[in-house]
Amino acid sequence: MDSQPVIAALPGLCGITPDALRRWLAEAGEPAFRCAQILDWVWRKKADSFDAMTNLSAPLRLKLASAFRAHPLEHRETRGSADTTRKFLFRLHDGRYVESVLIPANPALYGGRSDRRTLCVSSQVGCAYGCRFCASGLAGFTRNLDAAEIAGQVLAAERLSGERVDNLVFMGMGEPLANLRHLLDAVALLTGTETLNLGARHLTISTSGLVPQIRELADHPQQFGLAISLHGASDDVREAIMPVNRKWPLADLLAALDYWNSRGRRKLTLEYILIDDVNDSDAQARLLARHARRLHAKVNLIPYNTVDGLDWRRPDESRCRKFRDILVQAGVRATLRLEKGHDIDAACGQLRLKQETGEGLVRPAAMRGS
Ligand code: SAH
Ligand code: SF4
Repeated sequence: MDSQPVIAALPGLCGITPDALRRWLAEAGEPAFRCAQILDWVWRKKADSFDAMTNLSAPLRLKLASAFRAHPLEHRETRGSADTTRKFLFRLHDGRYVESVLIPANPALYGGRSDRRTLCVSSQVGCAYGCRFCASGLAGFTRNLDAAEIAGQVLAAERLSGERVDNLVFMGMGEPLANLRHLLDAVALLTGTETLNLGARHLTISTSGLVPQIRELADHPQQFGLAISLHGASDDVREAIMPVNRKWPLADLLAALDYWNSRGRRKLTLEYILIDDVNDSDAQARLLARHARRLHAKVNLIPYNTVDGLDWRRPDESRCRKFRDILVQAGVRATLRLEKGHDIDAACGQLRLKQETGEGLVRPAAMRGS
């Protein structure tokens, strides 16, 4: 990790709601029309410095600079290319790192067209949930991202790529539902008509299964999609992969998802990583089909992406296809996702972990000696 000093953080300008900005401008004695100008610089022109905001007066730019950060994320590295998957690594004000992944052709997974771009966004630095296949949980939890750091990933990705992000998936580092307040603040900014104005239907929130928060989200007025990281279709298998299942076993999770459906929520997706000899049996496929049919959910099958320091492997292709065929024969919509960006550590969390640990990956306590 870099040893630069930690500077006291000013709030990121892109985390401020239009109403809060109007209040701030009024208190600063600035005319009301400045609000629309500033929002235009932040959300439409994606300015990342106050100097770039040329139609603002110099004194106002100085006042802004003393109260806010023009952008909460410092771009450090891009891997990949425009026709494949691009991964952006950002440094935060406290020297931590997060990453976002821009996927050019949405493989029809999250309701988008094939010419649309999907951005995979991080919600925390690290993760406390310690799923045993996941690089994000390897070094444990560090902190929540604030709304500016979450929403700022979209602005930065659009600025760096020169392209518009059509779909957002909260599937990067961290557990979004463990950071619900900041997540929803960011969502309000990303979907607000004065700010980025993305349709809520183009947002998918992914969770490892935090039952109370799923119920809370089900009551939210906006219609975003929900993806559940299931990865095991029975409690014994799921528990061996995801410690969160001990707290909220499948029966509780499925009941919360019934509630989600009962609230007229749209899109429910079950994510299922296929891991050789761990969760890829025919019996698991049949159980998974039963859950998916009960929930009217689509299933995304993802062959396990090898993580340095972890021992598991992906099943061979014929095994993956057999697993999918069992689902399809049971009447379930199932896709087998061909991994994009495998070569650039695209499984979320891997690039940041290499940055912070200087390539030497650590094994989580639970796995040492196993
Ligand atoms: N914490 C949330 C969001 C993080 S995204 C959640 O768990 O849903 C987690 C997703 O990243 C997983 O469902 C999986 O789709 C993907 N993922 C993580 N590690 C992976 C790996 N080693 N191989 C393949 N996919 C992985
Ligand atoms: Fe955390 Fe999600 Fe990774 Fe599990 S899969 S460790 S919940 S980021």
